[in-house]
Amino acid sequence: MSSFLFQCIDCGKHHVPAEVEYLCPDCGAARKPMQPLSGLLRCAFDMAAVGKAFTRDALASSKARGFARYAPLLPLRSMEMLPPLIEGITPLRVAEGLRAELRLSKLWLKDDTVMPTASFKDRASALAVAAARERGRTTIATASTGNAATALAGQAAPSAWRA
Ligand SMILES: [Zn+2]
Repeated sequence: MSSFLFQCIDCGKHHVPAEVEYLCPDCGAARKPMQPLSGLLRCAFDMAAVGKAFTRDALASSKARGFARYAPLLPLRSMEMLPPLIEGITPLRVAEGLRAELRLSKLWLKDDTVMPTASFKDRASALAVAAARERGRTTIATASTGNAATALAGQAAPSAWRA
């Protein structure tokens, strides 16, 4: 389990995750039409607590599946709500031709094409689905022109039958 609060990027105020949703109650309420969102929240982790739980030894000996191994760094109360498809641990591939063309001594590419919807956005979508499920939500939506929606649909679909 992670130890975090939400922090407003505008006023800096911290909020308990269970008490806010999407925006800072103070700054988000001041939003005007046709203006960018105010009061977006970011995760502020208690890094001292993370440092105690998330060590090289703990990571190496973890039996957790996929990116749930990084639980202390994920903004979820538990890993129970993560969709079953997410793995998140993808291979590094040697990119010899590109390495030579760029005249680099070494080059690897992270191969996220092996993710369930072939997108790195599966990780964020899995977190969004898990956070929604933690809040008891049964519907989730996104604005997307492409792979974010595919990733969200891919991560949400198997969660529906587990609800
Ligand atoms: Zn604020």
